[in-house]
Amino acid sequence: MEVFALGNLLLGLAYILQLFGGAPGWSMLSVINHSLTLCAPVAYLLGALRFFERPTAVVRPLLALAVTYTVAQALVQLWLGDEARHALLAGTCALLFLLMMLAALHGSRTFAKDLRVEMLVMAALIGGICALNAAKLAMIVSGGMAALDMNGGFQKVFYLYMSFLATVLPPCAVWLVLRRLTDELRSLAAHDPLTRLLNRRGLMDALEVHFRSRTAQPAFLLIVDIDHFKRINDTHGHQAGDLVLCQVADVIKASARQGDLICRLGGEEFVVVALGSDSTGVLQLAQRMRAAIDNHEVSDSSRGQAIRCTATIGVSGPFNGVQVFDEFLLQADSALYQGKAAGRNRVEWSSVHQV
Ligand code: GH3
Ligand code: MG
Ligand code: MG
Repeated sequence: MEVFALGNLLLGLAYILQLFGGAPGWSMLSVINHSLTLCAPVAYLLGALRFFERPTAVVRPLLALAVTYTVAQALVQLWLGDEARHALLAGTCALLFLLMMLAALHGSRTFAKDLRVEMLVMAALIGGICALNAAKLAMIVSGGMAALDMNGGFQKVFYLYMSFLATVLPPCAVWLVLRRLTDELRSLAAHDPLTRLLNRRGLMDALEVHFRSRTAQPAFLLIVDIDHFKRINDTHGHQAGDLVLCQVADVIKASARQGDLICRLGGEEFVVVALGSDSTGVLQLAQRMRAAIDNHEVSDSSRGQAIRCTATIGVSGPFNGVQVFDEFLLQADSALYQGKAAGRNRVEWSSVHQV
């Protein structure tokens, strides 16, 4: 956020210099103005990299760019003259904005899929300033310094668009940051921090979404409870117990079908809600999970030990709405209890619902 603000500050300074700088000829103010004009979008770019969790330095790269570009301006001015220095700025900006626009378009399909609309709006806004800079470059090359006349039609359009961007970009940046924060908060509230599976609240929300659909098929509820988990903690330590929980969560995920909802209810109990299945399919799913957990070896590399565990699974009958969730959870729990009493490492159906 603060890097976006820095970009704004640089852009604002460039504007002030543009207003007080007078004619577009060679002067200290004009040189600083050009360097600031280039540094401002680069600051936005660095802010965007940080926003998308690619940590990057800010002050040094900006200072290096400012110094390098100032030297480049002096050399171009010396060898090729004023026109070339202005063409250099327009060309460099057009290229930079083109790359930024392509990155935003790429992001809307890859690393920023969750912000697709925002990325496309950004790409369109950046595309506009890219096109204006390319047009400015063409006008300088064909018509010389006349293209930079502040009373000319083109410069008016150019600076109107820049003012529009300078007004629109700060609230856009705030909007993006707030959206990312609220998404993160929502995700934290819906997931278990240890296994990253849904927690009970996340499961209820997902179930509500599922049952809202008119074509929603009944769901089956499976409680997966690790056998003698307390012993694992007592023998290998709490940390190893946590590792077992994470790896069992992975095994459950790998055994479930796409679309099934998987939740850590608490402690060593997991709930799987099988969607779009029938009794036979759910029984197969439960047996597959039980066998996968039984066959899995948890390797605790930090202590050089391998831990085996089993789980008992209680399965409820089919249910059709969130409002009966607790009732069917109880059904699956009593089936689980029977499975524990019958020797563990088993799948047990609720007695209310027999296949
Ligand atoms: P059963 O076969 O009857 O299910 O026996 P159990 O030992 O698995 O069940 P019990 O309910 O007696 O013990 C569960 C243990 O899980 C007790 C608790 O300390 C431990 N536990 C709960 N949450 C966590 C956790 O987040 N991490 C670890 N390592 N242990 C946990
Ligand atoms: Mg247990
Ligand atoms: Mg338990």
